Amino acid sequence: ASYSESQLYVDGVTVSFDGFKALNNLSFTVDPGEMRAIIGPNGAGKTTMMDVITGKTKPDEGRVIFKGDIDLGKHDEAAVVELGIGRKFQRPSVFENHTVFDNLELAIKSDRRTFACLFDRLDGARRDKIDATLERIGLTAERDRLAGQLSHGQKQWLEIGMLLVQDPELLFLDEPVAGMTDAETEGTVELLRDLQGERSIVVVEHDMAFVHALGVKVTVLHEGSVLAEGPMEQVQSDPRVIEVYLGR
Ligand code: ADP
Repeated sequence: ASYSESQLYVDGVTVSFDGFKALNNLSFTVDPGEMRAIIGPNGAGKTTMMDVITGKTKPDEGRVIFKGDIDLGKHDEAAVVELGIGRKFQRPSVFENHTVFDNLELAIKSDRRTFACLFDRLDGARRDKIDATLERIGLTAERDRLAGQLSHGQKQWLEIGMLLVQDPELLFLDEPVAGMTDAETEGTVELLRDLQGERSIVVVEHDMAFVHALGVKVTVLHEGSVLAEGPMEQVQSDPRVIEVYLGR
């Protein structure tokens, strides 16, 4: 897709720390509704990439364009959230002493984009949205349990739910299956497949089996640039990828 049609257009972004280029002329696009996996060895620049897109770090060179015409480099982290970009960090950060339901409700209330209109609406609308989200993340039965009592995997799903209720148009998930059991990882594949197409989702992941199971286009980062891009089958057999990553 051309850049005006892309949901996200990362255009030649360079970020240096004391002269070291954590990102080096990084370019890639994500289409509207696309799910993309981004992989790469430690130090490849994955975290810095997410920091730049979500307004935490400013690019030294290049631009990050959201929805064709929004220059994310001109917005801070809070503004980027309000523009509709959600980010799930690696470690789950749910409110352990609140119920699953309350966690989702707090997430809706903290969403500055919908707070004003929801506040005036019937509580019922909010409840319906939370119930629908609980169903999607497979936590309907855990609705009234304290989040602190959930398994690690369930906490991760709850946190995804907390992002979903805010209706992001672009969602970043940092290692969503880290620490999960095989069954939880499978559940996450199903959850993400179910979400596919509704919004753009970028999954940054180390777990190759999981990325394979997702069956989406993969971007391989190495030394701050794109090393390879394509279906997992293709990327996996790319000698350069094998050398820097898969072969380790
Ligand atoms: P990844 O998430 O793929 O492991 P990072 O984006 O965390 O990679 O890091 C990319 C490179 O940039 C690494 O070599 C890292 O040491 C370096 N780096 C990241 N953040 C900083 C920082 N704040 N100061 C100095 N170097 C950094």
